[in-house]
Amino acid sequence: MEHYSKTINSLIEELTRLPGLGVKTATRLAFHIINMPKEHVKSLSEAMVTAREKVKYCNECYTITDEEVCPICRSSKRNHKVIMVVEEPKDLVAYEKTGQYDGVYHVLHGVVNPQLGISPADIKVRELLKRLEGDVDEVILATGSTTEGEATAMILSKYIKPSGINVTRIASGVPVGGDLEYVDEVTLMRALEGRVRM
Ligand code: ZN
Repeated sequence: MEHYSKTINSLIEELTRLPGLGVKTATRLAFHIINMPKEHVKSLSEAMVTAREKVKYCNECYTITDEEVCPICRSSKRNHKVIMVVEEPKDLVAYEKTGQYDGVYHVLHGVVNPQLGISPADIKVRELLKRLEGDVDEVILATGSTTEGEATAMILSKYIKPSGINVTRIASGVPVGGDLEYVDEVTLMRALEGRVRM
């Protein structure tokens, strides 16, 4: 790294702060960036700054919202004693589209991935456990059926079980390695209805 200029070194350093980016990948990206058209770099950096400034997480479920607390968490029509844990806001959207789920959510913003150096401390696990100190009957683990999604579900189950709260896992109707976003609503509904106790 010391062979490069100070400017590119600092770019590489900034990029390595992102999860899953080691020096090697960061270096490759840094060189990609300096070869990109200037206007693309500008719009990329502007999009990052704007997103960081404007988008915030719901104080309760951590989905993306423009308000302090999202409409789902604010709703009195939802069952706040059932919390479905999903990986990303887009998974929440997929389940909302089924119109069949009346509980609330918790968005992890990722999954545990030792290979990429992502530990439970890097996703919203602490925040979930804090919520469970309240009145909760069931936690539905709806992380994906990828190796990481399954591993994350196992870890969460271990954390939650001692509290006595029911921990369930969505049925494996979701294709292996499948991205929840692309699974149809019927499959999601079946996965939810067929959930099993962990
Ligand atoms: Zn919320």
